[in-house]
Amino acid sequence: MAQTHKITLINGDGIGPEVVGSTRKILEATGVKFDWEICEAGAEVFKRGLPSGVPMETVESIQRNRVVLKGPLETPVGFGEKSANVTLRKIFETYANVRPVKEFPGVITPFSGRGVDLVIVRENVEDLYAGIEYMQSPDVAECLKVITRLGCEKIIRFAFELARSEGRKSVHCATKANIMKLTEGLMKKVFEEVSEDYKDIEAHHIIVDNCAHQLVRRPENFEVIVATNMNGDILSDLASGLVGGLGFAPGANIGEDIAIFEAVHGSAPKYAGKNVINPIAVLFSGIMMLRYLGEFEAAETIEQAVYVTLGRDKIFTRDVAGEGQKAVSTTEFTDAVIGNFGQKYEKMPTKNYKKIVIPKNTTTSGITHRHVSGLDVFTEVSELPDVLGKSIEKLIEGSNFELTMIDNRGVKVYPSIGAIPEKADFYRCRFMLTTNDNEDIHQDNVIDLLNRFGKKYTWTHVEKLHVFNKEQAFSKAQGED
Ligand code: NAD
Repeated sequence: MAQTHKITLINGDGIGPEVVGSTRKILEATGVKFDWEICEAGAEVFKRGLPSGVPMETVESIQRNRVVLKGPLETPVGFGEKSANVTLRKIFETYANVRPVKEFPGVITPFSGRGVDLVIVRENVEDLYAGIEYMQSPDVAECLKVITRLGCEKIIRFAFELARSEGRKSVHCATKANIMKLTEGLMKKVFEEVSEDYKDIEAHHIIVDNCAHQLVRRPENFEVIVATNMNGDILSDLASGLVGGLGFAPGANIGEDIAIFEAVHGSAPKYAGKNVINPIAVLFSGIMMLRYLGEFEAAETIEQAVYVTLGRDKIFTRDVAGEGQKAVSTTEFTDAVIGNFGQKYEKMPTKNYKKIVIPKNTTTSGITHRHVSGLDVFTEVSELPDVLGKSIEKLIEGSNFELTMIDNRGVKVYPSIGAIPEKADFYRCRFMLTTNDNEDIHQDNVIDLLNRFGKKYTWTHVEKLHVFNKEQAFSKAQGED
């Protein structure tokens, strides 16, 4: 007997119930058996005073079922409330945000006919979106960009496995490793290491700004693009604009053993209850869910029926219907798709999809020797760099450190290389140990240095300067030797 899939279903806010309702009807019409556990999240939950927007019953349902089909959730405008969407992604550590971008027949865009068919795989947990931010002074804000080998390897393996499962030939890794050599550089490095395990797939590194440029010039050249969180966020929105916009942008948030399927779009409140909205984005998220569940035949039935409805019958929802095309309601579109079950759209055959299985991480840093060779001390101070430098040198006389430079937002200002900083009272002072090269910093030396420094200046934070396998594991300032 066919398996019944137990799924947590969140109808969502605004247009959510209409697009999720349409998707549910089409999924059920394939004959695949679902046991929907309907759960709440979003606007109504916030109104009841729950600041996460996600009640415990919903969390428990997801823990039990491990698969979620979800409508858009409104994020209340006002101070304090978090996005319920982000809460769900964070609670369940869905590390991969997957956004396929494919041209739909009959949907006219400046890129029509180019055969755009790519997937953006965005890391979904780390990076600047970990949300670790500090005000360093009343006028200086700082955000930590956290990139781990573990996080990079997971998302990169996911991208290669996804390429294999869809019979795709190449993966591009888009980074800003030319500027952020350690954080984005780690992503690039791990990509190069992991690509060794996928010799059947072409692996290309591309600088992310060039990737944005190439996506607009030659989108058909890309198949899978993997990127860190913020780069992936921007690229995926750019890419969805290539194929008709939000009504056509499905997505999935995939974790170790959990998956949340949802469209990229939000709750579009102005269209709620009007029966005019395009259900394709949520429907194609539902198709991704079917493939995740191993229901490949049903997924193909729906995919082909949608192409026939749009491409052959020229039936569209009102957001995209153009001249000579029939504009229908959400419910009419839903019925038209079901009516086309079993039909094939020859121009766009469905790929031979396979289930994705992610192998365990295998790469290691290979670091066998490490020591701390110095300290960066960040300070909020309004003195000019030359005065500051000389004054600090006096304070640390007789300590185990020398002041090797001071910078202002990454540009060396002491000893001067000619750069004159704007008035941003935030300096980084770099202290290196004057003793033996391979010697680690002793805790007492750190305290001694901060005590001396603190006599005259306010330090805001301190970073250790690591050396791994004899290589400096920290960036240099502009103008530093
Ligand atoms: P939105 O995506 O809801 O709507 C922007 C515009 O896009 C709409 O006015 C409409 O013109 C178009 N659009 C969106 N979905 C469409 C569809 N299915 N068919 C046709 N056209 C469609 O973005 P917004 O107005 O910025 O956000 C509204 C609410 O949704 C906010 O509260 C926001 O926080 C939330 N939101 C939720 C999610 C999510 O649940 N994942 C994502 C984005 C925004």
